[in-house]
Amino acid sequence: MNLYGLTREKLESYFESIGEKKFKATQVFEWLYQKRVLTFENMTNIKKEVQEKMKQSFSLFLPNIINREVDIDTEKYLFELQDKEHIEAVLMRHDYGLSVCVSSQVGCNMGCRFCESGRLKKVRNLFSYEMVGQILKIEAEIQERISSVVIMGIGEPLDNFEQVMDFIKIINDAKGISIGARHITLSTCGLIPKIRELQQCGLQINLAISLHASNDVLRNQLMPVNKAYPLKELLNTLKEYIHVTNRRVTIEYILLQNVNDSVENARELATIIRGMNVYVNLIPYNETNHLEFKKSEKKSIDLFYDTLKKEKINVTVRREFGSKISAACGQLRSKKENI
Ligand code: SAH
Repeated sequence: MNLYGLTREKLESYFESIGEKKFKATQVFEWLYQKRVLTFENMTNIKKEVQEKMKQSFSLFLPNIINREVDIDTEKYLFELQDKEHIEAVLMRHDYGLSVCVSSQVGCNMGCRFCESGRLKKVRNLFSYEMVGQILKIEAEIQERISSVVIMGIGEPLDNFEQVMDFIKIINDAKGISIGARHITLSTCGLIPKIRELQQCGLQINLAISLHASNDVLRNQLMPVNKAYPLKELLNTLKEYIHVTNRRVTIEYILLQNVNDSVENARELATIIRGMNVYVNLIPYNETNHLEFKKSEKKSIDLFYDTLKKEKINVTVRREFGSKISAACGQLRSKKENI
C-alpha cells in the first residue's frame, strides 16, 4: 500500500493494529504534508522499530513528472505512473492564487463526444495516492503552495468514488495538505446514484455538473451518460442535493458552434434551471485536432450570456487557460501516446 493514499483515520487504524498510539498518524501526516520529508528515516520522532514496520507495509512512491510545458498563466504536467501509464494535471495562476486541475482515472468511459480524454477508454482508476501525488509533485516543482484544486482532469471522478473521497479527505485535512473544502471542486457528467452518495458525505466541497445541453435530444447526442441519467432526473437529484447540503451547484456548459449555442438553447437552459441555487459557467470550447466540434464565435458566446442574464440566471464565462499548450482535457496525454 502507498502511504500517501491513506486518510489520517485509516492511518490511525493502522497504528492501532500494530499496537501503537493513534496520534502517530498525526505525526506522520505532519512529516509527509507539512515538512514534506521523503523517507521514513527522516520521521525522527517515530521510533526506529516503528519506522521499520512502516517500511515493510508502505511505499512512498509518487508519480513522476516527465514533461512540463509553461505558458504565462498555465503549466501543464505529464505524469508517469508506476505501471508506466500516463496522466496529466494543469496548474493555473489566478490573481487569487494557484489552482490545479487533477486527473482521476487513466482514460474515461463516459464517451462525451466533444472530449479528448474519452478517446482512450478507461484503463484503470487512479489510486488516492496518485491524485495526492499530482499536487505534491507540482508544489515541489514550483516551490509554491496550491490554494485550490479542481477534479476536472482526465476521468469521471464519481466513477472512482472511494479513491476520490479519500483523496479529498487527505488534501482537506488540516494536518494534511490543508486545502479548504470550499477550495475543492469536483466535476461530474452526472452519475445520479453517486451524486446522492456524495450528498451524504457531509463534505463542504463544490460540485460542478457538466450539463452542456438544454434538452435530452441534444444531451443524448453529446453525452451518452444522459441515456442512463436523463436531464429531468439529474436536475431533480441536484435540487435535492442543494436542499440537503445547502450548497450552490455550478452548471458547466461548453459552447459548441451551431450545436448548443443558440438563443433558443439559452432560453431553454434558463427554463430548466429556473429557481435552483445554481450558477452557470459558460466554457468556450477548447478545440482539438481530433474532434469535429468548433468553438462558438465570440458574438454567440456574448448573446448566450446576455440571454441568460436577461432571464435572471447567474452566469459567468470561464476564462480560457492554456489553449496554446493544449492544456485542455486529455490533449497532452494523447500527444504523448500519439493517439
Ligand atoms: N468527467 C468529469 C470531469 C472531467 S471533464 C465531467 O464530465 O465533468 C471536465 C470538464 O471539461 C467537463 O465539463 C467537460 O465536459 C469539459 N471538457 C471536456 N473537453 C473539453 C474541451 N475540449 N473544451 C472545453 N471543455 C471541455
